[in-house]
Amino acid sequence: MTKIAIIGPGAVGTSLAVALQDYPHVTLLGRRATTLIYEEAKTSETQSIAVQALPKTTERYDVIFIAVKTYQLDSVLPYLPHMTHDKTCIILAQNGYQNLQQFAPYRVYQAVVYISGQKQGNHVTHFRDQVLHIQRDHITEQLAETLAHTQLILHLENEIEHKIWYKLLVNLGINTITALSRDTAQVLKNKAMVQLCEHLLQEGVAIAQHEGIPFSQSIVKDIMKIYQGYPDQMGTSMYYDIINNQPLEVDAIQGYIYRAATRHQLKMPYIEMAYTLLSHHHQNALQLQN
Ligand code: NAP
Repeated sequence: MTKIAIIGPGAVGTSLAVALQDYPHVTLLGRRATTLIYEEAKTSETQSIAVQALPKTTERYDVIFIAVKTYQLDSVLPYLPHMTHDKTCIILAQNGYQNLQQFAPYRVYQAVVYISGQKQGNHVTHFRDQVLHIQRDHITEQLAETLAHTQLILHLENEIEHKIWYKLLVNLGINTITALSRDTAQVLKNKAMVQLCEHLLQEGVAIAQHEGIPFSQSIVKDIMKIYQGYPDQMGTSMYYDIINNQPLEVDAIQGYIYRAATRHQLKMPYIEMAYTLLSHHHQNALQLQN
């Protein structure tokens, strides 16, 4: 039997644990042992979810989903050697893109997450979707088969890089604009902000192209159309993090794109400015936390 762990009992990690409830060997691991209340927003149904302490785990797992915020990853890495074997597969259920080389020698997959939820205190609300996209290979095909009867929808992709970049671009525009303006999606009623958002996306698309990830000519327009469908009062995770003075997932989103531009010696002034300003906030927030 495949033994599965989920590290990070937040909105995504707890939703994953519930989606996998029909599978008997799933453990949700947090900083400490606790019990969470999980609520399905559509039905208002609630249930208790047990969390075990990551520092106390003595098991070795075959599959580990990591669902901590990207800037919390470093605090998880030291535990991996004690809970893995040479065939353990690690799935990063996070936004953005990580440098996967830091996970050598593990088999690691960057997933693209379509799970919407939020955690407040010990209460997790799941709004919609239980979908992860990951690269197709013989290991993930086997995993998809193992989890076929659960609520988790595992989309196996022939070219995951394209899905990752698409989500990076969607996050690049709206997360940057809402975070830096400290305003919700209604900020795109302002024409100058629309223009700024389009410039960010145009730069992002050009960088993707240099990375060998082509998008259709209409991609910027298509993404802007998605944003226009957002409710005015909707904030992004980066918006909420900035107004609450929390660290930001800037290194894995804007930072990842900016570093790709630097590798290709591309000058991308909008992304450079956004990354610099957001990183500054992130560093200050980290210092406040420590
Ligand atoms: P979250 O609610 O903040 O959950 C992160 C959880 O990880 C928290 O419970 C946190 O515990 C725990 N954690 C942090 N460090 C840990 C450690 N060393 N050991 C054990 N547990 C640890 O974040 P999230 O919203 O689930 O987001 C997770 C990832 O999914 C992010 O990359 C996010 O961008 C992405 N994502 C989220 C959504 C969404 O709707 N929420 C949608 C798509 C993608 P503490 O609370 O004690 O810090």
